[in-house]
Amino acid sequence: MLKIENLHASVEGKSILKGINLEVKPGEVHAIMGPNGSGKSTLSSVIAGKEEYEVTDGTIEFEGEDIEELAAEERAHKGIFLSFQYPVEIPGVSVTNFMKTAINESRKAKGLEEMPAKDMLKLIREKSELLEIDRKFLSRSLNEGFSGGEKKRNEIFQMAMLEPKLAILDETDSGLDIDALRIVANGVNKLKSKDNAVVVITHYQRLLDYIVPDFVHVLHNGKIVKSGTKELAHELEEKGYDWIKEEVNA
Ligand code: ADP
Ligand code: MG
Ligand code: MG
Repeated sequence: MLKIENLHASVEGKSILKGINLEVKPGEVHAIMGPNGSGKSTLSSVIAGKEEYEVTDGTIEFEGEDIEELAAEERAHKGIFLSFQYPVEIPGVSVTNFMKTAINESRKAKGLEEMPAKDMLKLIREKSELLEIDRKFLSRSLNEGFSGGEKKRNEIFQMAMLEPKLAILDETDSGLDIDALRIVANGVNKLKSKDNAVVVITHYQRLLDYIVPDFVHVLHNGKIVKSGTKELAHELEEKGYDWIKEEVNA
């Protein structure tokens, strides 16, 4: 589904990613861990196609197609979803109305007509029940006064509605409490299927107690320096990152 080869990227002329190789297949959950500043958020932004980041070498393929030249919006329409770290507040626009617009924009980009209101309601009902989101929440103004957990709930709801093929969740928020972690994890576990894939970016091993990854990769100084299974995450929790830095420098 996603194939990244020798990816180099820079921001404001500063080289950040220095040769990333990563392959994600349908049905897989990958966790990307690593110390602060190692390039985790940069990697997610580059995959999603944020403009500030320049790919200087290497390739990003999504479903067999090179996507480096595509705008973020086009990538989203192809089925790449990136959770946003700092969601915007839109007073007066409810969670539901925001979702309706997002769904219809995405359909329009694919040349489809607007989703009939009845189908939309059914979809909203289905997904909100699956994620145990109550009706009151759906009528609230987008992100206005949302707690950390509510922001996460909204993000996961968006993911559920848009049904991306590849979801990238960048869990950098230092304010992520245990409730918010559970909301994210439950959502991911419920939405996971053999046809979609999830990349979870975190420096919290804790999150991986709830989302069990098939693969764990450690990013250090713009490179994946170690890959393994979920045991690697436990090892990192016990020993920190220093031993990996030492291994790399040895
Ligand atoms: P992580 O998510 O692993 O903590 P980041 O990808 O956020 O790491 O950052 C990696 C490096 O890139 C850091 O040194 C950071 O300061 C720099 N960086 C990231 N985004 C920008 C930006 N928009 N402008 C300037 N420097 C950036
Ligand atoms: Mg950071
Ligand atoms: Mg980050």
